[in-house]
Amino acid sequence: MGRAELNIEDFTPVMQQFLRARQKLGAKSLLLFRMGDFYESFFEDAELIAKELEITLTGRPEQNYPGGRIPMAGVPARAVKPYIAKLLERNYKIYIAEQMADPKTCKGLVPREITKVFTPGTICDLDLLDSYKNNFIMAVCASGDQTQFGIAFTDVSTGEFFVCELPDKYLAQEITRIQPSEILIPAKLASRKPGQIVAEEECLINLEQFGVFLEASAYQKDNFDIDLARQNLSSVFEINSVDKLVKDSFGENSEGLGLKAAGAVIEYLKETQALEFANNISKNFDVIKTYQISEFMMMDSSTRRNLELVKNLSGGNTATVFSAMDRTSSKAGRRKLRSWLEQPLLDIQAISARQTAIKELIVNASEQNAFKASLSKTYDIDRLSNRLLSELISPRELLSLKDSLLRVVEISSLLQNFNAGLLTSLKFVPQEIFDFCRVVENAIADEPGLTITDGGIIKRAYNQELDEYISLVEDSESWMNNYEEQEKNRLGIKLKVSFNKIHGYFIETSRLNEKKLPEDYIVKQTMVNSIRAVTAELQEFEEKIVHAETRRNALEYRIYADLRVELAKYGALIKQIGLQVAQLDALLSLALLAVEQNYICPILDTSLELDIKDGRHLVVEQKLKLGEFVPNDLFLSSSPDQKIMILTGPNMAGKSTYMRQNALIIILAQMGSFVPASFARIGIVDRIFTRIGASDDLSQGQSTFMVEMTETANIINGMSEKSFIVLDEIGRGTSTYDGVAIAWSIVEHLAKNLQPRTIFATHYHELAGLEHLYPSIKNSQVLVVESGGHIEFLHKVASGSADKSYGIEVARLAGLPKSILERARAINNQLQAQKSKKLGMNKRDLANADLKQAINDDGSLEIEKLPLFNL
Ligand code: ADP
Ligand code: MG
Repeated sequence: MGRAELNIEDFTPVMQQFLRARQKLGAKSLLLFRMGDFYESFFEDAELIAKELEITLTGRPEQNYPGGRIPMAGVPARAVKPYIAKLLERNYKIYIAEQMADPKTCKGLVPREITKVFTPGTICDLDLLDSYKNNFIMAVCASGDQTQFGIAFTDVSTGEFFVCELPDKYLAQEITRIQPSEILIPAKLASRKPGQIVAEEECLINLEQFGVFLEASAYQKDNFDIDLARQNLSSVFEINSVDKLVKDSFGENSEGLGLKAAGAVIEYLKETQALEFANNISKNFDVIKTYQISEFMMMDSSTRRNLELVKNLSGGNTATVFSAMDRTSSKAGRRKLRSWLEQPLLDIQAISARQTAIKELIVNASEQNAFKASLSKTYDIDRLSNRLLSELISPRELLSLKDSLLRVVEISSLLQNFNAGLLTSLKFVPQEIFDFCRVVENAIADEPGLTITDGGIIKRAYNQELDEYISLVEDSESWMNNYEEQEKNRLGIKLKVSFNKIHGYFIETSRLNEKKLPEDYIVKQTMVNSIRAVTAELQEFEEKIVHAETRRNALEYRIYADLRVELAKYGALIKQIGLQVAQLDALLSLALLAVEQNYICPILDTSLELDIKDGRHLVVEQKLKLGEFVPNDLFLSSSPDQKIMILTGPNMAGKSTYMRQNALIIILAQMGSFVPASFARIGIVDRIFTRIGASDDLSQGQSTFMVEMTETANIINGMSEKSFIVLDEIGRGTSTYDGVAIAWSIVEHLAKNLQPRTIFATHYHELAGLEHLYPSIKNSQVLVVESGGHIEFLHKVASGSADKSYGIEVARLAGLPKSILERARAINNQLQAQKSKKLGMNKRDLANADLKQAINDDGSLEIEKLPLFNL
């Protein structure tokens, strides 16, 4: 790349055209410039595209560019979609500039215009969308001191639009929950470096600093202006007082940060989707939903990750809680269920509404399959109704929508005897839905073409004028046959009347007949064996047909465009129905799961207790053979006082499984689901925290003690007495003494402050001593039995604490060679012997010497004697 300042005037006209268009776009944008059969890119864009798409970087001669060649890379216009999909995955925005005139007939420079913009967060094309999850575009805005944030996000394909205001410490967990495909943050333009065609941007918020590690894109800070936001929101959502909405939702003191973010999202959609939405974005959106982070159970990003809710530890979609529980039949239902799992509720009434519906679906077992059959035949009503609303829907999509609504009618009749509040709204299908279906049925051809400009989309008998054109076109075949017969008879030779796209209609005969052709035959083509000719009559016919066809296509397009506007009226109603259907699917999925896996309905209350009998881990259980999973109880309560459980047991005993299973039972219960247990009473949990000790946390390769400690600090700062905390092997990432010391002081802190319900798993048996010091702390252990020198894992949690590690036994089970095991046993014996020798030593020396050796004569640990803790 050249170092000199670029002067646009120095370039050839077409490059000037490119540069002018390109300079309006930001970094992370790519301009694909149509040139004949290719989309070409130039300069930095070309270098990037060549690298990302692994295509050849070529050059275009340009005299005044340093080096004489401009970097260039192109993709064939016919097959551009896969390339676009790949670039979207890498988070680029792709601007498509089309030729606005035919280069063959156009004099001078071909005019070009940007006709389409693809960005990761604004995809409308159902082919490019992942149907299993929402595709959100988000904007983030911060207060001056960056302690308060506003976020706004929308899924353009479903029309949902959310706004939230929240303090900095919740920013990361909320954004990671939402997983937006694109994040806009305010930026200002930095200067252009010499030779660079795209100006750099300087982001005003560093999201990483707040723990968000998703890629963000810079968006001019003017777009976050409050007045622009007022204007944008009131025009899109047709609300009178935007400020009132903000104050009602976020309080009198709100700085309008959510509002500013929402304004920026809309501005961005206006910029990138103007053509998609024919400048009427408001049709795509219905309501703006404001929410506060405290309305749902909170889980930070590492808790979600540790519990493998929707992604497993390696980032995949298999063997997750969601994949193990999903029994939905439709795409919209799947998205709904997933969003429930990701946002467990706090409101007992809302939870019990879901439970009531699930119960009713379970009781009516005979209808379950019928529901499933109808649901699985619905297409994505949610997304399709949005296409309808925004007048973008294609004829095929209209048919899918109609078919889906007919399924809704089936579903509705199945629901007649149901009474649960969440199920009754589908009992009655409004007349409008039948009207909609009838119009579509009458108007749209059974197998409409893909494009709406090539005809073949409107049924016969819908429009009289159209029928005439259609008959003309369709009758052409019989006319051709007649004409062929007539000419054969007239000339007495073999011939054929044919049609192809290039030459139109013609008469073809063997060259042997050349001499026999009458004067009214005009020869058009002479080939090796045959000859092609036309007659005046044939040409006249062709004109009529072509004429009819053009008319037909134009008329069909007009009819369709009108129809689309007319049908858009039904969009809002259909959307509501779509949401109900998705909800039914999610509820049915929970009912099916409960029956199949023998779950029970949990009791939720506002106490601070957890009482779970025979709880199971829903994912591990499904992987094991029937009856192999050992169920376990959990009881945490203030009377009798036991709020904190110290869980000991050797490696592989089942500690981690037990703790996660309890967290998952709580999450399931608060999302409204039944739970894998024989009984469960759950005092609503406001936040779940899970921490996995550094050396257990293999997924991120972050085996740093620092991460573990930062995360633990977040718990201490974020917990309330209603929280549930799972700490798995905390302190393992450092030396034993450090580790025990830290683990000890954390548990102690929890016991002294708030006493949130906690399970603390550790292989530091020393911690068992805490039970004697704090009434709220109780010891539990996962039992193992030793027989004949071997151990057997019982996976059973019981009171008391484990006192042996059985490390060597686990090593044996893992298949380590005998020689190593024997050597390890020998060393172990030696160490044990040394330890027992020390038992005879002066106790004071001992306390100073080694934490592990503050041991009573009977071998138990004497906590008070440890110098580490100033009790
Ligand atoms: P720990 O955390 O104590 O090292 P894990 O919880 O990782 O142990 O469990 C080790 C293995 O034991 C798991 O992979 C699982 O297959 C099995 N397991 C754990 N809990 C149970 C249980 N309750 N019933 C049956 N198998 C279990
Ligand atoms: Mg473990």
